[in-house]
Amino acid sequence: MTIELSIVAPVFNEEDGIETFHRRLLRVLEQANVSFEILYIDDGSVDKSLNVLLKIVEHDYRTRVIKLSRNFGHQLAITAGLDYSVGNAVIVIDADLQDPPEAIMEMLEIHRQGFDVVYGVRVSRTSESRFKRATAKFFYRLLSRLSDQNIPVDAGDFRLLDRKVVEALKKCPENNRYMRGLVSWVGFRQAPLEYHRERRKIGSSHYPFSKMVLLALDGITSFSDKPLKVVLASGMTLSISSFVYMFYAVLLRILDPANQALGFTAIISLITLMAGIQLVSLGLIGLYVSRIFKESKGRPLYIVERDSRRNE
Ligand code: UDP
Ligand code: MG
Repeated sequence: MTIELSIVAPVFNEEDGIETFHRRLLRVLEQANVSFEILYIDDGSVDKSLNVLLKIVEHDYRTRVIKLSRNFGHQLAITAGLDYSVGNAVIVIDADLQDPPEAIMEMLEIHRQGFDVVYGVRVSRTSESRFKRATAKFFYRLLSRLSDQNIPVDAGDFRLLDRKVVEALKKCPENNRYMRGLVSWVGFRQAPLEYHRERRKIGSSHYPFSKMVLLALDGITSFSDKPLKVVLASGMTLSISSFVYMFYAVLLRILDPANQALGFTAIISLITLMAGIQLVSLGLIGLYVSRIFKESKGRPLYIVERDSRRNE
């Protein structure tokens, strides 16, 4: 029997919410009247999530649990889920009920109309803190400015992917994975679906500010080399203007030897300015070099410790 729909849900320390999620998801899927499988990717949870999940699996043959050997992060958990999925369509959904499972019906409908990717766009994030909303908004706009790729604004990881898109994604072995960017990059027919992002009722976000910054940096450095170009351009502008200034200072010295005003202060400020710019540029180049370093090792993206279908 071919499976029409795979659900991929990354789970990291969601012991209290996962059962509710599963129930709500099942209700929707049974209504949808398609053959389906549910893949829970346990991303190295340290609470009882795995036990809860294994209990669900016991009663439900359509559910499968893949446990990663440690916490590899949201993006790699999704990658593992895509690798293990077999459905003709795959839907990635957060297991914390912030992405409403009910929207799956509409995604399937749009997929039937011939679209290969249906990406969820958050129209309201009232549930999230002001700060998170503001930073997210800023980041999405910055990324779409910087990137050569057309990455949709305000789209998260809640989306439907056709089998051919999943196969295309599997051919991208890069380590620094920013899935939203990759999905845009592979192309195919894509359509947005607006939905309301719900409040996180149980547990708390596993994306503290520091992780968000790292994700943002991954997004930008994976899909844009504009920061390097900006550095180059500003370096050149500064070099030219300091050269002009130097010329002016020397000229002034010759024409008006008594004028001391342009001496020491000017030199110190110029030197520190230059040093600052050089360090920033070096740091930026370093970011790209570190990416090359990571990719060059060709390590596997994640390691599976346990699969509920294999070694039970
Ligand atoms: N998640 C994961 N690995 C991580 C962090 C999060 O698999 O290292 C899962 C988490 O269980 C949830 C989803 O990814 O299902 C989204 O994470 P979270 O809700 O913490 O992020 P937010 O919704 O606040 O952006
Ligand atoms: Mg969440």
